[in-house]
Amino acid sequence: MAEECSVVVGVRIRPFNDREKALNAQLCVDVDGPTTILQNPPEMAIESGKGKEAKRFTFDASFWSHDGFEVGGDGYCSAAPGSRYADQRTVFETFGRRILDSAWEGYHCCLFAYGQTGAGKSYSMVGYGANKGIVPISCEEIFKRISANTDSNLTYEVMVSMVEIYNEQVQDLLVPPKDRPKKGLEIRESQQLGIYIGGVSRRPVDSYASIEAVVEEGTENRTVGATLMNATSSRAHTVLTIEFKQVSQAGGQQGQKLSLINLVDLAGSEKAGQTGASGDRLKEGCAINKSLSALGNVIEKLADKAMGKAKPNAVIPYRDSKLTRLLQNALGGSSKTVMICHLVKLRRDALNLEICGSSEEDQE
Ligand code: ADP
Repeated sequence: MAEECSVVVGVRIRPFNDREKALNAQLCVDVDGPTTILQNPPEMAIESGKGKEAKRFTFDASFWSHDGFEVGGDGYCSAAPGSRYADQRTVFETFGRRILDSAWEGYHCCLFAYGQTGAGKSYSMVGYGANKGIVPISCEEIFKRISANTDSNLTYEVMVSMVEIYNEQVQDLLVPPKDRPKKGLEIRESQQLGIYIGGVSRRPVDSYASIEAVVEEGTENRTVGATLMNATSSRAHTVLTIEFKQVSQAGGQQGQKLSLINLVDLAGSEKAGQTGASGDRLKEGCAINKSLSALGNVIEKLADKAMGKAKPNAVIPYRDSKLTRLLQNALGGSSKTVMICHLVKLRRDALNLEICGSSEEDQE
């Protein structure tokens, strides 16, 4: 197996919501194949004197969404609704399937949803109702593939754990908040297990229905916990880990392949200062940003290594945050990493922050 590090990055842009449409929000982003284009809306461009210069950023994929609002009255944006639109299935086929294929080959992997609150992370990861996201589609696919196996020498064991990292503490989402240790769980390391969370719940699952029930339980505990802490769940990183083991018995010998599939809904990437935070909220913001910036550093260093820009023995700063430490097994080395960055279609100035900062209302 080739010892290569693989980091893939995509962008997904959500449609305007009703409030943004009502406030006549300005479109400032476009996609062209895998390229995301950031533009200055006309008025702002004139004010800032920067002209209509656009900045182009090329990723592995850029996913558009349409809401019938793309083409401005002035023809400023050339978006053609429908042509670049990516639905949940397309996003899964592009990135989720890659993760599952890697797991089947025996790699550890991580898929992250990154973006500010309200930008569509939960939509991509979980989805809403029948419009399933990457987590349920992946779980469905895992058991579809397992039941399609015709090799009687090959068996599968699947275990699930679900934690959240809040204020640099790891909390077990499969334990009701009142029964959890106050300071959270410890991240440990052993020669045999590598990095692991001491005492975390690991639930065996053998069907889509059983994994769905575990995820629902974790999600419910997450909401209860957030309410108890008077916070919103958007301030924590949620990590769903599927331990996927393939056991083969060929020729009287037992062989095993273990893969960790980590599906991570990151905390909102908005900066503490920009949301007017102070006191506990500011501390919380700093903790979120610590994990997010540590994750950014780790991924940047891994990408540099992969592209030969850094020395092969360059130190990767996994220990800088709980999130990167926890995911150390599944980041770098021969692991596969996917990052989907979520954007809104409008400028992030004061008005727009206010518009797109409240996902709860949008979900109703
Ligand atoms: P986040 O998890 O980043 O806080 P959400 O996933 O809750 O954001 O998304 C905010 C709102 O935008 C929700 O109402 C969601 O249904 C909607 N939304 C997000 N992404 C899309 C998309 N690609 N297509 C349609 N609606 C979307």
